[in-house]
Amino acid sequence: MFYNSTRDRAAKVSAAQAITQGISAEGGLFVPEQLPKLTEADFNALIEKSYVERAIVILAKFLTDFSDVEIRYCAENAYHDKKFKTNNIAEISHLFDGTYMLELWHGPTCAFKDMALQILPYLLTTSAKKVAKGKKIVILVATSGDTGKAALEGFKDVPDTQILVFYPEDGVSAMQKRQMTTQEGENVAVSAIKGNFDDAQTGVKKIFTDPAVVEKLAENNMMFSSANSINWGRLLPQIVYYISTYCELVRDEEIAMGDELNVVVPTGNFGNILAAYYAKKMGVPFGKLICASNANNVLTEFIRTGTYNRVRDFHTTISPSMDILISSNLERLLYDLCGCDDEKIKTWFASLSETGKYTVDAGVMEKLSEEFYAGCCDDDATRATIGEIFRKYSYLCDTHTAVAVKVAQEYKKETGDDRKMIIASTASPYKFAPSVLPAITDEIPADDYEQLEQLHELSKLEIPAALAELKHKTVRFTGSVDKEEMEQVVLGMLGLA
Ligand SMILES: *Cc1c(COP(=O)(O)O)cnc(C)c1O
Repeated sequence: MFYNSTRDRAAKVSAAQAITQGISAEGGLFVPEQLPKLTEADFNALIEKSYVERAIVILAKFLTDFSDVEIRYCAENAYHDKKFKTNNIAEISHLFDGTYMLELWHGPTCAFKDMALQILPYLLTTSAKKVAKGKKIVILVATSGDTGKAALEGFKDVPDTQILVFYPEDGVSAMQKRQMTTQEGENVAVSAIKGNFDDAQTGVKKIFTDPAVVEKLAENNMMFSSANSINWGRLLPQIVYYISTYCELVRDEEIAMGDELNVVVPTGNFGNILAAYYAKKMGVPFGKLICASNANNVLTEFIRTGTYNRVRDFHTTISPSMDILISSNLERLLYDLCGCDDEKIKTWFASLSETGKYTVDAGVMEKLSEEFYAGCCDDDATRATIGEIFRKYSYLCDTHTAVAVKVAQEYKKETGDDRKMIIASTASPYKFAPSVLPAITDEIPADDYEQLEQLHELSKLEIPAALAELKHKTVRFTGSVDKEEMEQVVLGMLGLA
């Protein structure tokens, strides 16, 4: 299987090349030439397997330049019970009639990013051995909070890699910040930037594609790669959990093979929901894909109207990992919906960078409405939903997941569609304790760690050790820079300034 670029249909690279490079030279994103289709026999075989065995089968369909031994090595090192709190890796919790909470946050950093970032270092180093032998891989990450920590944890002390994470100074939760600034490892660095997530993402993209910087790295036998969801190696492992979840529900006799399920995803950069779309195209019987946004509702408007307009106020919300106005992975969806027309993609995205907006054509709009539904909710509604679900079902969800729950409720009310639903639960409520607590109690201790205790008292959920132990860790990274200085920080870290 080969991969094309969304902005150059003629580009044709192997999986190893796509994963090592991260982004295509002309700025497009790598996409598989064709999505493999799952047959009935495939499903029957997958249903009987464990998570890691399912991952191996699915990865092999996309990574045709990897050997079976390599794929097994990657999957087995990523998905095991020392890294994930549960053998199932992705846990399904039955919330209420016909709603399944797909808990993707039982990994080491308590957010769904672990599902991909635990395996990405293995995929990337295996790929680099094939196409960039002997080179040091430099990972640059822009994070809205969860990716940064998950990437640091995945890449720490991985030989021949170096990782640098930029996060918006005021755009992450206290717990997220502490998770990153206390990161251990010899090959890691973390820096705050004075700006929001989009500034961080734009800055990283600029450094990536700056020929002078790229050349400087090359002279020193280094190369950039990305751990953001623009990297195909991030998206692929996310397809796995959607397929796996469907199989799991069939195995548990919750559904019969072929039953249609709607999927609800709290969305920021459009990676997670795109993985659900790809799973559907591969043959998983998913119905509507429901895109849930917070007050940064650029995607809601886009899916409803066909016009993407990032020229609007940026809101800092209690679901910070979704505080995004430029959803990178939407480009992959549009490429698919417009029949791989790279010229159209180039026109739309040039318009986005020049005017801040673009409007898709009627053909794309039609398909978009057929596949997707979009909704949004503000912080008040998010908190109210956390409270409601907790009181009704004794189930505690985090602020991001609550946005999805709220939009799911609205979708049902609006359409009467009563197909069963999978709701992607993207973070542990402990990760956002200061925002979750007020939704369920009036007694809120000032201290971050007492807040964890308080949440535990009320919910009886186990406090993740990875969060509790932050209290005793030393803060290593305190720097904060202007966005114009990001390049200097990168070169400085690499000893190339
Ligand atoms: C990253 C993140 C999201 C958004 O996911 P995308 O793939 O960027 O759409 C939602 N919730 C949490 C907790 C996250 O960390």
